[in-house]
Amino acid sequence: MSKITKVNGKLIVPDIVTIPFIEGDGVGAEITPVCQEIVNAAVAKVYKGKRRIEWKEILAGGKAFDQTGEWLPEDTLQTLREYLVGIKGPLTTPIGGGIRSLNVALRQTLDLFVCLRPVRWFKGVVSPIKEPQKVDMVIFRENTEDIYAGIEWKQGTPEAEKFLKFLTEKMNVTKIRFPKTSSFGVKPVSIEGTERLVRAAIKYAIDNNRPNVTFVHKGNIMKFTEGGFKLWGYDLAEREFKDKVFTMLQYEKIKNESGADKAKEALDKAKAEHKIIIKDCICDAFLQNTLLIPEEYSVIATMNLNGDYISDQLAAMVGGIGIAPGANINYDSGYAIFEATHGTAPNIAGKNIVNPSSLVLSSVMMLEYLGWNEAGEIIEKALESSFQKGMATEDLARFMPQGTSLKTTEFGNTIIKLINETK
Ligand code: NAD
Repeated sequence: MSKITKVNGKLIVPDIVTIPFIEGDGVGAEITPVCQEIVNAAVAKVYKGKRRIEWKEILAGGKAFDQTGEWLPEDTLQTLREYLVGIKGPLTTPIGGGIRSLNVALRQTLDLFVCLRPVRWFKGVVSPIKEPQKVDMVIFRENTEDIYAGIEWKQGTPEAEKFLKFLTEKMNVTKIRFPKTSSFGVKPVSIEGTERLVRAAIKYAIDNNRPNVTFVHKGNIMKFTEGGFKLWGYDLAEREFKDKVFTMLQYEKIKNESGADKAKEALDKAKAEHKIIIKDCICDAFLQNTLLIPEEYSVIATMNLNGDYISDQLAAMVGGIGIAPGANINYDSGYAIFEATHGTAPNIAGKNIVNPSSLVLSSVMMLEYLGWNEAGEIIEKALESSFQKGMATEDLARFMPQGTSLKTTEFGNTIIKLINETK
């Protein structure tokens, strides 16, 4: 079994590499094998046997519970730690029991601080917006902090009462409108948490020739948490990426000192020098702008809750959750789990109609992460070519003017055929 390692900050990927995979519950059993066949075909086509993936199954979710009595066995976590990079299908959220969500548990245990969601449109896919070709964004959503940290107390419990007492008696808080019937949540946002997320986003923009990075926040209202995120982000950009970026703080400073013309001149010069423009946008305005002027945004760095909303809206703009890929990554340790972003879709499980594209595109992201970009590109091209011909699973084909609804396995075979026919 050949393992990926991380040496001096760089991933070392053997030509024959073992990738652990979690099949996933519900439709997982249908999308995972189709996805693996597509990836195997692309790798074989491009590298002609020189490179290969050996898939190693690890258990999580319902399948793990049935076989071991545990939802997330320690063996699974150990294997992911050992092999660094893995891929997973959707997992059922256990009802009752100690685990709130298996996905959250995986992210927390491996400290996967970036939730990475690239959003682009594929020709042929029907979109609810007029010019979906203008949408090409990569979202870096902070994965470990914010109101999502799970620090909350239910209304009426002794804990909520104790917390209320602390707020009113020790912190002199008087602004709680209905204190006796309030539940409470805590929103931690730190300098370290912000910096590692923003650093990853700017590095990505530099490595992938992206024109700008936007911090999306609600700092006008939540001044110390979301406002802190914005300020710490700008600080980091100017401190660590000085020669490679031009920030809107610099722009404002020039404007105040020397006037708007000089500021515009500096901005134009930075663009001509291919510097990354670092800007920020209030979250509600940003959601509006994604519909009106999506071409102005490239890489997005944002906190957990905003990131959740933004990811789904952008996914819907280019064709929905059936084709939205994602990954959870720790760029420091190298740990990465690529995943289908949709759920287990119990209403269509076992019918051979589920769209495997989300997991397939997540494997494209995985191939890019491994540095096997050529194999990823050939898969993307095959998907686009199939969509352009109106050949897709039912969820997409039903909206295509000349659409043909293919079964999951038929769609997989179509993509493999297109890969093999690529010149
Ligand atoms: P869901 O994403 O499973 O389904 C929502 C709707 O979208 C359904 O109508 C479904 O048929 C459709 N759909 C989803 N993926 C599709 C695909 N690839 N192709 C075609 N149609 C697709 O969300 P849900 O019903 O709210 O959740 C079901 C279960 O999945 C719950 O247990 C939930 O906790 C879990 N879940 C897991 C993940 C994950 O593991 N990443 C994410 C979301 C939900």
